[in-house]
Amino acid sequence: MRSKPSNTASLSGESHLLAVAAGKKTPSAHLESLVAAGVRTLDDLMWLLPLRTLPMPKPRPFREAREGELFLGCGKVIHREVKPAYGRRTKGRFLLSNGFVIVKELDGEATLPLRFFNLYPQQKKQIEDWDKVWFLGTMQEWKAQNQIVNPKVHSLVDEAWAQTLGEWLVEYPTVNKVPGTYTAKLFDNLPTDFWQGLKSDYGTDELNDLSLSRAFQILHARIPSAQFTKELRSSAEERLAYEEFFVDQLKITTRRRFIKRKVGPNIQPDAETLTVFLKRLPFTLTEDQIKSVQQILDDMNTGHPMMRMLQGDVGCGKTVVAMLVALVAIQQGHQVALMCPTEALAHQHAKTLTEMFGSLPFLKPVLLLGSLKKKGKDAVLKALAEGEANFVIGTHSLFQESVVFKKLALAIIDEQHKFGVEQRLMLTAKGAGTHCLIMSATPIPRTLSLAQYGDLDFTTIKVMPAGRKGIKTRIVAKANYDKYVEFIKQRLAGGDQGYMVFPAIEESETMALQNVTDAFQQYQKELPGVPMAVLHGKMKAEDKEATVKAFTEGTIRILIATSVIEVGINVPNAAFMCVYNPERFGLSSLHQLRGRVGRGDKAGFCFLVLDKDLGPSAIERLEVLEKTTDGFVIAEADLQNRGEGDLFGVDQSGEVTRRRVADFMKHSHVLEKVYRDVQHLMATDPGKIDPMLLKLARDQKILDTI
Ligand code: ADP
Ligand code: MG
Repeated sequence: MRSKPSNTASLSGESHLLAVAAGKKTPSAHLESLVAAGVRTLDDLMWLLPLRTLPMPKPRPFREAREGELFLGCGKVIHREVKPAYGRRTKGRFLLSNGFVIVKELDGEATLPLRFFNLYPQQKKQIEDWDKVWFLGTMQEWKAQNQIVNPKVHSLVDEAWAQTLGEWLVEYPTVNKVPGTYTAKLFDNLPTDFWQGLKSDYGTDELNDLSLSRAFQILHARIPSAQFTKELRSSAEERLAYEEFFVDQLKITTRRRFIKRKVGPNIQPDAETLTVFLKRLPFTLTEDQIKSVQQILDDMNTGHPMMRMLQGDVGCGKTVVAMLVALVAIQQGHQVALMCPTEALAHQHAKTLTEMFGSLPFLKPVLLLGSLKKKGKDAVLKALAEGEANFVIGTHSLFQESVVFKKLALAIIDEQHKFGVEQRLMLTAKGAGTHCLIMSATPIPRTLSLAQYGDLDFTTIKVMPAGRKGIKTRIVAKANYDKYVEFIKQRLAGGDQGYMVFPAIEESETMALQNVTDAFQQYQKELPGVPMAVLHGKMKAEDKEATVKAFTEGTIRILIATSVIEVGINVPNAAFMCVYNPERFGLSSLHQLRGRVGRGDKAGFCFLVLDKDLGPSAIERLEVLEKTTDGFVIAEADLQNRGEGDLFGVDQSGEVTRRRVADFMKHSHVLEKVYRDVQHLMATDPGKIDPMLLKLARDQKILDTI
């Protein structure tokens, strides 16, 4: 969840605000570009944080230069070389060059190499003019020698230059073509009393030792550099993280309160009918499944809408739980929608439903898919609007405006991480106080659930149905490739089927990735006589369907596919899952993929097939999968590797300028504090928090999306 600028004043007024900051009456072109990029108010400007702020070093002897430190030195150029930058020959119409310069101390013998990459012709000429110079840059060790890459260099003719550098080195990012130096000037032009007047919109200063204003002053280098410490910077960052998390929590709270204030349809948890449904199952429910059904049914009987996440590892049996609670609602005269991320998954669920419950007289299921022809779709829409159909299973097409329900009481969303919060809300908006059940096989670590899912209640299935043979996962290094193919041949000879998954459909010019098309050619040769087929997202729906069908029936033995198969294919006879270029996938995705095999009474095998040697950290990451099948451990590891955005597909679009400071792994203690503070405020001082919620709701139009 990304914080949005809180000010909603009109555009012209805002650019005027900035114009004042720039010391001008009318906005300049640069200011207008900033406004266009979302930096509309002084508050927005504050969140435009420097790429780096470093205390400016004093000039020092070369021998005191330390790796990783900013170094300011002065010396005489005793060697220079400029060569064309091959590989990156041209940028636009310029021929770029690389430079190498050695400087020697003026009053000593020590030397330092300076390296320059991708110089423009103009910069190249400057190098030729240098004699005695100042240089400023970060020392890097390269082949056991110190050097400075792309330092700022200034001719020593200008003796006073080092004095003009000031106390701080502050570099702002280029935003919408506005150079960082311009932004730095805006900050310089702020009136000195500006910083004192800067206050949090949400009164959070009372809850923190460090004021928001002070935190901004530290991060924008508005304090004497002598006072600066790394700890001070961390605490300033934490203060901003606090502010961001605080706004997140307010949003979540608003949403939750709003939902809990609504009236939801009452569904009676009727034990008798439930027993009838249970008798139809070809297996007995696990204890966790029973508990989940109870919890969900109780929650749909409170008079308010349910907002619940049902989480549990791939194959733990969430579907049947969802269907049971759906049937209870349907039997009491309601409609239920089940939304899936892929058509294959929708088909799968429809099949499961009809196999187990198809003969129940009150059940009228329909499928709503994007690939339906107009006539078929119209019939489905009509049936839903008139209440003829009472259980619709579908894909994204369920969101569409044309989909109207007579009496939608429960919306079930499978594999939540494929959908956003907004989509969840859009679907539930189709009924009055619709209950919402979200299913996810990607377990949600506590920090993340606080940060993003605080408006949900959780039900967790921890145990797997009995009799699962489980799954073994192995990384296949290049050296073991032949052995791996041998193994696959044996499994095929023993009657097994399996998947090969690739990150790309075709060969790409820009990336060396293994792909479906080449693999199909290759394995037809390597595994002669084995029926195989390709499956990917660009195929026509009917071709995909035919392929999946043939694989399900066993006439196709190997499915060579992209990760479209991540969800939704359930073939108990499939015993091996081979993922190529596994380094290209998130751990949770790989975990989902391997969840496709080892589902029945047959042991499953997952191979992560490498086509090159990977670095130790990449191997370590994949080894997590060899070691554990615990989805929570995997999700945590994924979080540490990739961050929240990737994991849950949070929309990262929008404000480029407002880099989010809060990182809920790094700042988890801050998040916990925010969570406690907001809970405490709500319990003790609602008079304080209500206006904040209202302001936020208005500014961010949260209420519109509910
Ligand atoms: P997921 O939680 O990943 O959505 P599914 O609901 O698809 O898992 O269940 C996986 C398989 O396990 C299905 O074939 C389902 O019929 C089966 N299953 C579910 N519950 C049980 C159970 N209690 N005992 C045996 N098999 C079960
Ligand atoms: Mg599932």
